Amino acid sequence: MADGASIMLYNSLTRQAEPLRPLVPGEVGIYTCGPTVYSYAHLGNMRPYVFSDTLRRVLEWKGLRVRQVVNITDVGHTVGESDLGEDKVEAAARRELKSVREVTAHYTEAYLRDIARLNVRTPSDLPRASDYVPQMLDFARQLDADGFTYQLDSGLYFDTARSSGYGTLAQISMEGQREGARLETVPGKRNKADFAVWRTEAPGRRRVMRWDSPWGPGVPGWHLECSVMSIDLLGEHFDIHTGGVDHREIHHVNEIAQSEAYLGAGRPWVPLWLHNEFVLLRNRKVAKSEGGAPLLQDLVDDGLHPLAYRYFLLTATYRSQLELTDAAVRAASSALRRLLGRAQALRPLPAIPTLTAALEAMATDAGRAALHRLDEALSDDLNTPRALADLTTAVRGEELPEEDLTVLLAAADTVLGLSLGTLDPSELDGRTEVSTVDEELRALLVRREDARNRRDWPESDRIRDEIAAAGWRVVDTADGPVLEPLRS
Ligand code: AMP
Ligand code: ZN
Repeated sequence: MADGASIMLYNSLTRQAEPLRPLVPGEVGIYTCGPTVYSYAHLGNMRPYVFSDTLRRVLEWKGLRVRQVVNITDVGHTVGESDLGEDKVEAAARRELKSVREVTAHYTEAYLRDIARLNVRTPSDLPRASDYVPQMLDFARQLDADGFTYQLDSGLYFDTARSSGYGTLAQISMEGQREGARLETVPGKRNKADFAVWRTEAPGRRRVMRWDSPWGPGVPGWHLECSVMSIDLLGEHFDIHTGGVDHREIHHVNEIAQSEAYLGAGRPWVPLWLHNEFVLLRNRKVAKSEGGAPLLQDLVDDGLHPLAYRYFLLTATYRSQLELTDAAVRAASSALRRLLGRAQALRPLPAIPTLTAALEAMATDAGRAALHRLDEALSDDLNTPRALADLTTAVRGEELPEEDLTVLLAAADTVLGLSLGTLDPSELDGRTEVSTVDEELRALLVRREDARNRRDWPESDRIRDEIAAAGWRVVDTADGPVLEPLRS
């Protein structure tokens, strides 16, 4: 591998960490399942994109040339993920009294704005499913010609019994998958796990989006788009496929089944499958169907910077569940602000695109050792919490000369994407850490804490008013009191 640095990644297919071995030396193709643009993407939805962006950044930092495709699902994804359900986008258009095109344009734009605010590097390609219907039809026609499908009134179905390794990714027995995968019953389906490659419009129920096909007018099945667009843009075989952990059980299993049937290659379609765990809210997956799932904009409206959320996501490994709480995001915001405060004093940070460039720029062995620690953490299945902890230690300590600390921060910025070189710490959030407020206010806060500990409420209230007079409000958090500027 370029830069002589290897990376271990946890492969959902084999359930173990494996070294990345690019199919074409020096290049990596990544396909990331993208958003269905029928509503705003919530904070949980942001995790797969920040995770795959971090993956991409780390690989580029190692000198690899990365092509990353993120699809935009604007047709084919059904309500309840059922083969007979209404298209999510059409349902949204009906609900919002808008055209399908208006709905998809609006939510695509919102998605792109959100990932940009999170410093997600723009994917190399952002294909829209609706632009690929002719290729999907060709793909389905070939599956049909090769005998992998059968036709019912409701569409063309993939016969999972014809797929030898069906369900390997989900690690379930074929019988279990066939029995358990689907709640709905489509009349005539041979196996429960069989899925629609093409969904034919029911007589008298004309869809808004529809294309002619040999199996009647209708729309492609949802799984089909990812197989077709990834193969079209990245080649028949490519290195890494990513997505949220919910895709591991059905969507990706079906992508693999139909792609391997189509290619007939006798080797895995994609060797490495990575899945991010969920963001949880009060112990449950953040989900659109739960209603009121928080958005990135909600955090911004709350006075937080989007990159505080990126930092928050990086405080856990992508394979662990992450509980979303106000206190945790605010703690991430404070930690990022401290990092920015130190970086600000060392600006401008140099451009350090790769590990090689970083090593060359380091003046001392201690600097090079710090870089290796950063690289080791990230090469260990993207251990971002360890990278952040090491960075925090380096920034606090005296070990590195300033010029090396500058290089380290620039290098960390390349891989973590936290705008360490440009973001003004004061932009981070409305609430300001006690330690950064001037001494007098700090003394007042200490006295208020003391009064509260003594249960001297009148004195505590009096001090609170004094703080308010200086333009600040005290907010008690799990991490202790913080000050928030009073707005008029
Ligand atoms: P969707 O737009 O619903 O198709 O979902 C987009 C991506 O977000 C998929 O990769 C999902 O697996 C992922 N996802 C959905 N909910 C969460 C969550 N709470 N935490 C992390 N990822 C999620
Ligand atoms: Zn997909």
